[in-house]
Amino acid sequence: MSQREFVSYEGVKKTYDGKDFVVRGLDLHVKKGEFLTLLGPSGSGKTTTLMMLAGFEAPTSGEIYLDGCRIDQMPAHRRDIGVVFQNYALFPHMTVAENIAFPLHMRGVNSTDTTRRVSQALDNVRLSALSDRRPTQLSGGQQQRVALARALIFEPKLVLMDEPLGALDKQLREHMQLEIKQLHARLGVTIVYVTHDQGEALTMSDRVGVFNDGLLQQLAPPTELYDAPANPFIAQFIGENNAIGGSVVEIRDSACCVLTPDNERFWAMLTPGVGVGSRVSLSLRPEKIRFSPEDTTGLNMTKGAVADVVYYGDHVRLRVKGCGCEGGLLLKVVNAGRLTELAPGTEVVLGWDPEDCRALLLH
Ligand code: ADP
Ligand code: MG
Repeated sequence: MSQREFVSYEGVKKTYDGKDFVVRGLDLHVKKGEFLTLLGPSGSGKTTTLMMLAGFEAPTSGEIYLDGCRIDQMPAHRRDIGVVFQNYALFPHMTVAENIAFPLHMRGVNSTDTTRRVSQALDNVRLSALSDRRPTQLSGGQQQRVALARALIFEPKLVLMDEPLGALDKQLREHMQLEIKQLHARLGVTIVYVTHDQGEALTMSDRVGVFNDGLLQQLAPPTELYDAPANPFIAQFIGENNAIGGSVVEIRDSACCVLTPDNERFWAMLTPGVGVGSRVSLSLRPEKIRFSPEDTTGLNMTKGAVADVVYYGDHVRLRVKGCGCEGGLLLKVVNAGRLTELAPGTEVVLGWDPEDCRALLLH
């Protein structure tokens, strides 16, 4: 195993029933100090992956390392990992301060040190004024801050969070996202975070691992997931995407020419595994499409008819039918005062640069 990595999953598989693998061979490496998020649809294996690191589930096969030590057979309480789970409740009969002090009592820390550290922890999550309250006397967001303080108080090497903000309303969730990011920056702790909310994953994380059906599909910084999706699933799952099907008929340097079923030819960037004859899905982000382009050199060009227009103030979204692909193309056009031209039925010319379009292998 690699010594440089802080957390390593090596060939980890998990089945609960002995038949279906819900984690199907995971190699994942987390760097020290990193904020890494596992993102994916419900049932894709995120929680199972986190539980195996926490020690609440054992891998069926494979190995897990933390800071150079193999931990997959070690009891959860010996791993010294802080956990915040949506359903990992506070102790109702204890005050806020007692809840936060609990991990220190478990570790036999003396009362002077405990008092000092609890006071610091309360300060960190800005709950000093509420230290004598019981959990039922707190809002959802305040309870989650107590859970956060309790997970951080024993200065764990690693903190795991599974949808910690899932139960909160939008405004509070965004506020807590910011607080967790700030705590991460201030304490320098390594965080592995689970969410099914892509906005949360993209705004909070250094890197995001996208899961689907028990497989890690891509692990990359947020900008790379959006600009350079590794496969059609990622292109569709992250942000908005136009998927244009076709097959590769020509390759020139790092680009390829794709023929669509409607006999249009579009140039796109090659990605690994794509060759002449490959069936591909072109990934094209809506904001990369130019509407009535004046400069047509080097562009992919197509024609279509405006099908519907939705006004968003600063921009409009249009669907243009035709364009060499089933379902037409979705565009985002910045509102620069020409929107009266866009009535449904209007014939339009669209263009985009080959550099903004990627040919992704269909399996
Ligand atoms: P996610 O967190 O991405 O929603 P999970 O890891 O919770 O995914 O679940 C992955 C799959 O494993 C799902 O099909 C789920 O039903 C199944 N699963 C999760 N936990 C258990 C369990 N304790 N026993 C049996 N099946 C489980
Ligand atoms: Mg889950």
